[in-house]
Amino acid sequence: MSLGLFNLFKLIPSLVLAVFLLISCKVYAEQANNTAINNGNFSQFVANVEKLQGQNLNQAFLKLDAQRSQLANLSVKNQLIFYRLLAEVYVEQAQYQKSKEVATQGISLAMTLASSDIVTAELLYARGFAVESLGNYQAARQDYLNGIEIADSLNDKKIVAMGLTNLGALDYLTEQFEHSLTMFNDALAIAKKLNDDELSGFVYSELGILYSLISQEDKSLIYYQKSYEHYLKAGKTFYAYNTLSNMASNHAASERYEEAIPLFKEVIDHAEQIGNDELISSAYSGMAWAQAKQKDSDPEASYHYMLLASQYAENAQQADFPIAHALDKGYLFKELGKTQEALESMLKAEQLLKQYNNHKQKMVSTISQLNVLYLKAELYHQLKEHKQAYLAQEQFLTIALALPEKSNFEEVEDLRMRYESEQADIEKKILEHQESVQTLKLSEAKSDAENRQLFSTTFAIVVLVLAWLLVKTLKGQKKLLIASRTDELTGVTNRRRLIELGEKFVKRAWLNKQPFSLIVLDIDDFKEINDSLGHKVGDQTLQQVAQVGQQLVGDKGVFGRLGGEEFIVLLPVTTIASAIELAELLRLTISRMQWAHNEIEKVTVSVGIASTVSSEIHGFDQLLQRADRLMYQAKRQGKNKVCSSE
Ligand code: GH3
Ligand code: MG
Ligand code: MG
Repeated sequence: MSLGLFNLFKLIPSLVLAVFLLISCKVYAEQANNTAINNGNFSQFVANVEKLQGQNLNQAFLKLDAQRSQLANLSVKNQLIFYRLLAEVYVEQAQYQKSKEVATQGISLAMTLASSDIVTAELLYARGFAVESLGNYQAARQDYLNGIEIADSLNDKKIVAMGLTNLGALDYLTEQFEHSLTMFNDALAIAKKLNDDELSGFVYSELGILYSLISQEDKSLIYYQKSYEHYLKAGKTFYAYNTLSNMASNHAASERYEEAIPLFKEVIDHAEQIGNDELISSAYSGMAWAQAKQKDSDPEASYHYMLLASQYAENAQQADFPIAHALDKGYLFKELGKTQEALESMLKAEQLLKQYNNHKQKMVSTISQLNVLYLKAELYHQLKEHKQAYLAQEQFLTIALALPEKSNFEEVEDLRMRYESEQADIEKKILEHQESVQTLKLSEAKSDAENRQLFSTTFAIVVLVLAWLLVKTLKGQKKLLIASRTDELTGVTNRRRLIELGEKFVKRAWLNKQPFSLIVLDIDDFKEINDSLGHKVGDQTLQQVAQVGQQLVGDKGVFGRLGGEEFIVLLPVTTIASAIELAELLRLTISRMQWAHNEIEKVTVSVGIASTVSSEIHGFDQLLQRADRLMYQAKRQGKNKVCSSE
């Protein structure tokens, strides 16, 4: 029996699943709201899409797709945001070719702008990630570099750091490990300075992958742990548990099942919260393998977990996930001695693979196909259906022989050489495999010479396929960080983004000697609404205030929620007089509004306004403090008032 190679194969399909982990989610019954988008409702639309991105990728996609025909109604800037979202969603769906096309459209449009916009940098990152996933590292590098240049010129440090991290990840894929480390260290320094958990989580997870690649598992785990903590703090649940799952896979790959099991369990326990079917499914199958392989093997539990994994795999949104899952299941069931079920799963993988006809990702298809055929040959052999087994074996060889001899595999081979001990292990297993294949072939009574020729070829190819999968696994752990800018509850710009933009606007105002005005609004006696009608009604009121604020501000500036029941409006190139006018409009409109909850009669806001011109303002902090003080002055004067420094 070829137990040796088997072990490797057993391990690898479960790891392969990690490759296919991308954001997706449960199908919620929510009906997509397809009101035509325009510049007025666009921010709300973006917020809804961003929210869905983390929950239900398919819905996010449908929402975007339904509005494609409305693109021309949007300002160029909003069109860019639209392209960015679509490119990111495609990346998450592993539709890299489509992502590349959409991002390219956006980038071309961005080139027509008089001055660059930060969205361009993000479009470049999305395209970089897409082409990197398609195997074009050089094009990816160029995109990342161009993105960093734009972010740097706009002094957007977070986006610079994200670009450096993308670049560093590309470096480890091309084995420039030292350079990779330099990039990550630079990005980490920025993350620490900005005190940004999302960014720290991102950089630490990449450091974890880097150290895992150079076989320093201890260090890798420390970084994963840090990544996990930061992501959780940032509220990036999916990324946090993805990191945790990477940790578990690391343990499993090193046969530390006792360590892997509780981590997989933690991911599973948070399934509802994660809401990502690929991630949950992978955790279940990771658990299934661990249960089968641990010291006190528990085949029944293993079987049970794999069935659960299948349930989640059914809703997977990533195109090739179900194939990987069916294969994984086939290998496990074969290991568990459930040959018939293994066969069914293998046939399903085969059938899915036929449907999955993505020529642009030919390599993935080919590897999957080889896996199907290998499993098929083994299973039919077990079932003593020698004819079928032989056929599968033949097909395996035909495809394997047609593989490009070097190109794609060269770097993989180099990398493999780094794992000296592992390599020795692989070779040992390959030798064992050779024997088993030989036995199989001999039973078909082929001539010795012919067999030897075939087997030596199989030997080489199997090594390559395995190595390719190994790298693909590690590579699959990499995620494109999508920074959120919107407030969860109201869908308007969130605090972090407001501060980022505010700082940028202050600087620009100072450089161009133009005014920049800031409005701060605080809802009066908001606590009373909460206390008398409940938190839900309070939330609803906040949403309504946000909606009307967004509408009235429109293209004039950026409306956002600073926190609690406090909103601000950033008004670049706007005099304080115009700001006062807008503030009055906001105050009056809100005081006369109809509220969704009919027990609310009236809601008012107190408003403070400050401008860079009216005083010596050095930073956004100072401007905000000033406007805040004026808002409190309005409260003291009896609320429902506007106070400005003029
Ligand atoms: P004032 O007129 O002085 O501003 O009084 P106020 O009641 O509006 O202000 P206070 O700061 O005393 O209370 C604000 C309340 O807002 C307290 C907090 O529970 C509530 N709040 C903050 N964030 C949220 C939220 O997201 N949803 C809901 N429903 N309430 C929130
Ligand atoms: Mg208040
Ligand atoms: Mg307040």
